[in-house]
Amino acid sequence: MQTIAKLRILADAAKYDASCASSGVKGRDSLGGKGMGSAEGMGICHSYTPDGRCVSLLKILLTNFCIYDCRYCINRKSSNVQRARFTAAEVVALTLDFYRRNCIEGLFLSSGIIQSSNYTMEQLVEVARSLREDHDFRGYIHLKTIPDADPQLLALAGRHADRLSINIELPTSQGLQQLAPEKSASGIASAMGDVARHIDEARQEGQAHAAQKPVSLPGAQRARRARPARYAPGGQSTQMIVGADGASDAVILRTSSALYTGHRLRRVYYSAFSPIPNASADLPLQAPPLIREHRLYQADWLMRFYGFAHEEIIAPGATGMLDLEIDPKLAWALAHRQHFPINLNRAPKEWLLRVPGLGGRSVERLLAARSVRSLRLADLQQLHVASAKVLAFVELADYHPRPGALESAQLREQLIAQMAQGAVQRRHSGMHLTAAGQMALF
Ligand code: SF4
Repeated sequence: MQTIAKLRILADAAKYDASCASSGVKGRDSLGGKGMGSAEGMGICHSYTPDGRCVSLLKILLTNFCIYDCRYCINRKSSNVQRARFTAAEVVALTLDFYRRNCIEGLFLSSGIIQSSNYTMEQLVEVARSLREDHDFRGYIHLKTIPDADPQLLALAGRHADRLSINIELPTSQGLQQLAPEKSASGIASAMGDVARHIDEARQEGQAHAAQKPVSLPGAQRARRARPARYAPGGQSTQMIVGADGASDAVILRTSSALYTGHRLRRVYYSAFSPIPNASADLPLQAPPLIREHRLYQADWLMRFYGFAHEEIIAPGATGMLDLEIDPKLAWALAHRQHFPINLNRAPKEWLLRVPGLGGRSVERLLAARSVRSLRLADLQQLHVASAKVLAFVELADYHPRPGALESAQLREQLIAQMAQGAVQRRHSGMHLTAAGQMALF
């Protein structure tokens, strides 16, 4: 099979991995010699590096052959899809070729399992090793690792990769047992623990190295100290499939929280289950609404950057599901109105972060502004934070919500209507609501 045909199959097979999700651009291909610049079908996607840069990556599978039969996976052993396989040398050559043409800045490589977990992992490691050692490749490498592989192979993978990821696949071990019985939740947890330990050790060695001051005697040549070996400086991430089993959002967030605290993961990616051809009867016939995935990402953001615990976002005893109509921070604020209004001139940062509509950057701007003057309504306009959501929950030197507005049974519906109206106005005219217009409701 020609390389281009393999690339088409293995780039398409990789698109189900959410950790790097913008693969392909529909509707603008340059096949047939027309136009230029399209990367459609070539597996080029965009991803974000740990320092926030957006980079183009070649996102492919080494192979979509697999000896496992995970029910939710298009590449499972029993799936009737066209198969292809690259050699490690072919992936290296492709990566270098794309890199030299300036199409990519790195590689995202995953694989179905062939022969054994160790054999597959050896191939993935060989790609990364060869790129780094044989070709001095300085671009970004993200390797999906095979959880049952020997820990020594995981250790080697981290030496060459910027980021490693091990898919947890499903939110519970029962779900994994039901839909991917050949995988083991304890094996995945153990591999994540190993990677976390290596990352911590490398970081500590790096810090100790940076803190050491070289001692040299007058006239003596300064001794060179070997830099400690790198290990996945971009940390580790994972992916969880949403909606393939019956796990609620509360269970999903609890699992994510445990991963962030237990294994210090950089990211948990949520991938809404998409129905596959000839699927097992265990699987739902329909995909969950995409907004569910979006709400999970918002809730995840609240846990990582806004100081929320998972059980605050979805209180025990509730439905266990996020509200699809409103974002999780607004849902929390509406359920905890006794904490509001928040005084924007006096509240500590952790409470400002809990105000619906205030993001991390807005909070920083507010803190800077209030350090030099008492904030008034007009200041919010200037700081671009005067949205309907914010004004319902805050007070300022010259502004208080209308008495009874916060307790109103209609507040939720009023805010939903205002947000919808605001979105339409922004879409059609690019105009922002005036503070006076927003205040009218409260
Ligand atoms: S091991 Fe990976 S590629 Fe193989 S069937 Fe399971 S999810 Fe798919």
